[in-house]
Amino acid sequence: MTDSAADALLPVNFIRARIDEDCAAHTYGQKVATRFPPEPNGFLHFGHAKSIFLNFGIAADYRAACPESYCNLRLDDTNPTKEETEFVDAIRADVAWLGFDTAGREFYASDYFERLYHCAERLIEAGFAYVDSQDADALRATRGTLTEPGTDSPFRSRSVAENLDLFRRMRAGEFPDGAHILRAKIDMSAGNINLRDPAIYRIRHAHHHRTGDAWCLYPMYDYAHCVSDALEGISHSLCTLEFADHRPLYDWFLDRLADLGEFTRPLPQQIEFSRLNLTYVVLSKRKLIQLVSEGYVDGWDDPRLPTLQGARRRGYTPAGFKLFTDRIGISKSDSLIDFSVLEDCMREVLNETAERRVAVLDPIKLVLTNFPADQREPCFAPNHPHHSELGKREIALTRELWIERDDFMAEPVKGFFRLTPGKEVRLRYGFIIQCTGFTADANGRVIEVQATYDPDTKSGTPGSESRKVKGNIHWLSVADAVPAEIRLYDRLFAVPAPGARREGDAPERDRDFLADINPESRHIQTGMVEPALAQCAPETRCQFERLGYFVADARDHQTGKPVFNRTVSLRDSWQKTGG
Ligand code: ATP
Ligand code: MG
Repeated sequence: MTDSAADALLPVNFIRARIDEDCAAHTYGQKVATRFPPEPNGFLHFGHAKSIFLNFGIAADYRAACPESYCNLRLDDTNPTKEETEFVDAIRADVAWLGFDTAGREFYASDYFERLYHCAERLIEAGFAYVDSQDADALRATRGTLTEPGTDSPFRSRSVAENLDLFRRMRAGEFPDGAHILRAKIDMSAGNINLRDPAIYRIRHAHHHRTGDAWCLYPMYDYAHCVSDALEGISHSLCTLEFADHRPLYDWFLDRLADLGEFTRPLPQQIEFSRLNLTYVVLSKRKLIQLVSEGYVDGWDDPRLPTLQGARRRGYTPAGFKLFTDRIGISKSDSLIDFSVLEDCMREVLNETAERRVAVLDPIKLVLTNFPADQREPCFAPNHPHHSELGKREIALTRELWIERDDFMAEPVKGFFRLTPGKEVRLRYGFIIQCTGFTADANGRVIEVQATYDPDTKSGTPGSESRKVKGNIHWLSVADAVPAEIRLYDRLFAVPAPGARREGDAPERDRDFLADINPESRHIQTGMVEPALAQCAPETRCQFERLGYFVADARDHQTGKPVFNRTVSLRDSWQKTGG
């Protein structure tokens, strides 16, 4: 492929258009530098996958034109109380799982505390920041509203010397939480509320997961983020749309600090894109934490959760997420993506990559009355219908088989072409059989089906296809099949917008999103699987023929004691029923 042909395949969007210009003009020299900056206060979710593919993807793609390009994983750990090391490890693992190596490119905002503090002193010295000693109520009251300007703090005109002295004593731990804050001196009547002398530092006597008790003073997000970007030489700082109103502040801090000689131009530029919103899930760490801590799901990697850990355990693939992010694209306006778009991407990838296996999820016994009891007839099933190079495997046909309960109907409804008394079907990779009868228990529940097989119709033998039958069902030999725990997962929420108000609800507030949980989101049953599935490694993905895509559970699947999770059905059943 030529370079220009390869370029043509890259997803085009307004962010790449902007970077193309900077790259061509070598605005930032030989690099395009991005970062993915999660706060380590929870596990990554599907929304983060969009940001990861965007940021790491851009750095990888621009390396051809700007060879020094990179993407940093920045743990944005400026908030001491909510962060934990456990989350840091999980974030790193999730980014790696999506295919990006962060070795040598992993940074912590907390490593910049000394530089951030230094820059704050520079701002004070230059008259761009002051210590305010109003209490929280006064700060709120003087901030103004969207329609009214704020009012200047009585401490706004403190001298540089007094500000510096107070700020140093704040650092030294002389004051309790809330006694003072450091504020940027911008404009209390600015139309953009973010510019009304925003806080830069607050006092917080709290233990930090990396810096311990070294600090009792912590920087605010808007200040820490842009300075961290500049320190890491980031060129394009991509963030979600709600930060658009913060961009003037981002530029204000960096411009002042560049003027003071702390940074050299060109400075990083913030570019906003729309966040991922998906139907039938919640993508907010706060809500995900609630689902886990209140026991609605079994931990952070519950296959029903839209966390990347959950996705992995569900059997979703990194390639599926990549396809999904490419397909939904990058835009400047918020939109709600239907969950089925994500599921379709997973299906597309798994259809190509997952080997086929046979499982019977709701088994009922089929007896071939004319088949000798001691005979084993080898049948050959292809491992993948489009990839003959993946070969075939042998499955033995015997007198007693398991078939799916719903592949038999004693009294068939119109249009039912599978097994029913007097009718013929093909046993996939085997013979044509004719149903001769069935046995029911005292309650009328069918417990066994009887049929005869036609020895001249074996799949793959000459003339076997000459007789046409409409039904084609899968089966397992009772002698060989292994019982397996099958976990059928469905959507965690029963409605497209969990927590959104519905007709008849009180107008003043949203519904409780927990009230929208789908009570049928998990169904556990015992099925039968072919012997190979009892031997496979955890996290092996496959298609159970005619049933869907499944994965051997990462935690509970063991050799000889198989446990499978349904990743996604073969077709979308939600669209037909409307959920
Ligand atoms: P949450 O609202 O769930 O707490 P967050 O934005 O606070 O998410 P961070 O850990 O701060 O989570 O986010 C890290 C990065 O991931 C940010 O750059 C953020 O813009 C991006 N991100 C978070 N959620 C989404 C989303 N739904 N779609 C796209 N990007 C997202
Ligand atoms: Mg955040």
